[in-house]
Amino acid sequence: MSNLGFRPEDVALPVGHFLAGKLVPGGADIAVTSPGNGRVLAYLPEAGADLVDEAAQTAARVQRESGWASCAPRERAKVLRRWADLVERNAMELARLETVCSTRPIAQTVGWDIPFLAEGIRFFAEYCDKVGGDVAATATNLLGMTVYEPYGVTGAIAPWNFPLVMASWKVVPALAAGNGTVLKPSEMTPFSVVRLAELAVEAGMPAGLFNVVQGTGLATGEAICRHPAIGKLSFTGSTRTGIAVMKAAAESGPKPVTLELGGKSPQLVFDDITSVDDVADRIFRAFTGNAGQVCVTGSRLIVQRGVAEALIAALVARCGQVKALAPWDENATYSPIISEPQADRILALVQGSAHAGAQELVACKRMDTNTGGVFLSPGMMMVQNAECPIWQEEVFGPVLAIQVFDEDDQAFALAEHPVYGLAAGVHTASLPRAMRAIRTLKAGTVWVNRYGRSSDFVIPTGGFGGSGIGKDLGRQAFEANLRLKSVLMAAE
Ligand code: NDP
Repeated sequence: MSNLGFRPEDVALPVGHFLAGKLVPGGADIAVTSPGNGRVLAYLPEAGADLVDEAAQTAARVQRESGWASCAPRERAKVLRRWADLVERNAMELARLETVCSTRPIAQTVGWDIPFLAEGIRFFAEYCDKVGGDVAATATNLLGMTVYEPYGVTGAIAPWNFPLVMASWKVVPALAAGNGTVLKPSEMTPFSVVRLAELAVEAGMPAGLFNVVQGTGLATGEAICRHPAIGKLSFTGSTRTGIAVMKAAAESGPKPVTLELGGKSPQLVFDDITSVDDVADRIFRAFTGNAGQVCVTGSRLIVQRGVAEALIAALVARCGQVKALAPWDENATYSPIISEPQADRILALVQGSAHAGAQELVACKRMDTNTGGVFLSPGMMMVQNAECPIWQEEVFGPVLAIQVFDEDDQAFALAEHPVYGLAAGVHTASLPRAMRAIRTLKAGTVWVNRYGRSSDFVIPTGGFGGSGIGKDLGRQAFEANLRLKSVLMAAE
């Protein structure tokens, strides 16, 4: 990679809401700080209930009157494809906007986030005219049908860890299905999605169909969840906030919700693996990618005794190799922590776990850096019992908790979590073992001999239990943005 580096002060930030196709500046209510250098980038206005109402009413009117829902679906697909092309054409600008206020290094936003975003738009464009209803088996003097229709307006609340990609998983299927939408990004990462919405209008999407409102969860997010014109919600974030979103949806609707929530995902390694080094690479990436600030972070290692010593030694060696570089440095591969309070929370969890008996194999600690950002080094803790906080709680930081097992049944029992069921990884050369793990593990996704999503958008993602309801990606995410109407016609 070369020529990717940039200076944060050279990035022009679109500061404000995006309403009816225009950037709407407002007050200076919220300071947006870059995790890369700890400096304030801009002051953001906060949308209260009035502005959320304006955004929702605008989306509803435009969705009704612009023909977006009533046109031939392939016309919508054309606009979405042009949108994807524009994302690619403006890739460097979007990547910089993403990197400047998030934890995503520039080489990764250029190499992964933006191409993934563009392809995700194309993926959902393909569904526009591919999902129809059914004709029912009725008596021949009747015609029974099911037809899909959009909700009208959907609400989307996105987190800060992959601002563009997470937001797109919510708004793109909603728009492709014929809805208007109101998005609230995290107030920590508010800029790139505004540019994404501008590009949608440039691609030919009716102005006012896709609106972005800025603000905090309690003021702006809650108003979106409770707005009567918003018929469906999609949220990614913590389980605690997901429950609040669902409560608001129940009290103001009820309206359906898609919730992608927390996780404490296990990775099971059996002693028949063919390469310790390959598995170590996978496990290491799975708990240090984005410095562990990923919902599917593989934060619990369950390793069979025969291979434990070698694998742990290989992981310890990798922990010492990460470098703390500012995200806009073209050589950066490791991420800062999103904020000081989040770093304090992670370190407190590590400390509490050490007091509870966990043994620190590698300490997770603040890294020396002159960037001004806060970086935590990868940490590894050996745990003796399942009640230990580092085994139970989502860290959302680069810390791996480890337990060793002897028999397969023990591994499956250790993998169970009382709350979460988001993802799991299985590393084995044995097909019967892999098949048993797939059937036994209580997780929305099971990866075998890999860890992490591929670019196959067709595979849905979402959790069981406290990890959420419904799916992002796949045909299921498109269909979740449609409601089914039953029709029965009689011949006169
Ligand atoms: P939250 O779940 O609190 O926030 C996610 C989004 O929801 C933000 O935009 C937030 O706004 C908004 N929100 C907060 N409260 C409400 C509400 N009552 N109604 C509607 N929207 C609301 O996550 P945090 O960013 O505070 O991170 C805390 C923890 O959540 C992390 O440590 C991690 O464990 C987990 N998390 C999980 C993610 C995932 O990918 N599954 C992503 C991010 C976090 P605001 O920022 O103003 O609070």
